[in-house]
Amino acid sequence: MSTVQGRLRIAVQKSGRLADRSLDLIRDAGLKWVKGHNDLLYRVENYPIDLLRVRDDDIPTFVADGVCDLGIVGENVLEEGRNGGPNASVVMPLGFGRCTLKIAAPPALAYEGPASLEGLRIATSYPKILRRFLDERGVKADIVVMRGAVEVAPRLKLAAAICDLVSTGATLEANGLGAKDTVLESQAVLIQSPVAPEPALQHLLDSIIERMAGVVSSQG
Ligand code: ATP
Ligand code: ZN
Repeated sequence: MSTVQGRLRIAVQKSGRLADRSLDLIRDAGLKWVKGHNDLLYRVENYPIDLLRVRDDDIPTFVADGVCDLGIVGENVLEEGRNGGPNASVVMPLGFGRCTLKIAAPPALAYEGPASLEGLRIATSYPKILRRFLDERGVKADIVVMRGAVEVAPRLKLAAAICDLVSTGATLEANGLGAKDTVLESQAVLIQSPVAPEPALQHLLDSIIERMAGVVSSQG
């Protein structure tokens, strides 16, 4: 049962690449909110719903734990956040926030496929996704976890290659790196909690999902 009685909660990124488009979708689905003094919580006026504004990395856990009923997050963050417990499920892809997690390396690395990474050090903010990619291909490599500025790792000799999010490729190019392989194609997804809302809110939850689906499909 959800922790706040009588209201649904939707988790959205507070600021960043997904923030505006997430609120656009929620608005287009018919929800109106007031930006109160509380920066963390936007209160929806026309339904018993609150928008919880948090870092994207926290969204999968909040939804998995039932702290929020729905959430909007990148597939990359959802995949990286998966653990042994009950997880949030994907309701639908939303068609924005598209990016690709790629293996990239300097020209000096002769890359002929994942096997070329054997025995090397690879820097990434996505160690779980990368480890799975390597394991599935039988490649043994060292993973160096960096929270940001992954693209500078080869220049600093911290790693021979990186595994990082790419949209245009401009950042890679600016750092003298070339994309070599795709690890994960990602976009924003609507996720739902495995924890059911209180029974009186189930119908509202279903209808919000339905309306979001309508908005997404009308955008082609
Ligand atoms: P937060 O403060 O919420 O933790 P962040 O810095 O982790 O923010 P953003 O850079 O705002 O995250 O990116 C949020 C999401 O946007 C990414 O997880 C990814 O799904 C998506 N995205 C789309 N294009 C890109 C890109 N070029 N680089 C990084 N992320 C992208
Ligand atoms: Zn983040």
